[in-house]
Amino acid sequence: MIDKEKIESAVTMLLEGIGEDPGREGIKETPQRVARMYEEIFAGTGKGAGEHLSKTFERESSDMVIEKDISFYSMCEHHLLPFFGVVHIAYIPNGKVVGISKLARTVEVFARRPQIQERMTEQIAREIMNYLDAEGVIVKIEAEHMCMSMRGIKKPGSKTVTYKAIGKFEESEKLRQTFFESVK
Ligand code: ZN
Repeated sequence: MIDKEKIESAVTMLLEGIGEDPGREGIKETPQRVARMYEEIFAGTGKGAGEHLSKTFERESSDMVIEKDISFYSMCEHHLLPFFGVVHIAYIPNGKVVGISKLARTVEVFARRPQIQERMTEQIAREIMNYLDAEGVIVKIEAEHMCMSMRGIKKPGSKTVTYKAIGKFEESEKLRQTFFESVK
């Protein structure tokens, strides 16, 4: 559970720490604002996507289902700065499919927590695999990390690309190629 009071006092201390006056007109409400915002952007912390992915329906076809360009915003757990971009998902059903919006909901659950891109990629793939008993799942994420764009090596606009392939997508290069072709 999110403890808003704790966040508020931490933000006050953080403002003091960087040499600000937390009582200054423009920022005196900032701790409360940040606490409310964190409640929203970290709402996925400790959660799985079961409530979204367990509502499946039957479909005989085993044709690949692709959902691309699902946009997301997450927070890098190393710097607590945003990373954001798009997720592409494909799966090969084994009798069960889910509504398209459920894949976007799944992305949201795993994005709204302190996160790293590699783990988010894997968590989304494994969660879909588990709930759908799919023949295979593949997830590709392309994201810009503000901790790289704003500081350090400062390469604005550069993208980090990760992917995770499970089941038939792990076994078959041809299937992976079909996916990568359709999402590029
Ligand atoms: Zn970072």
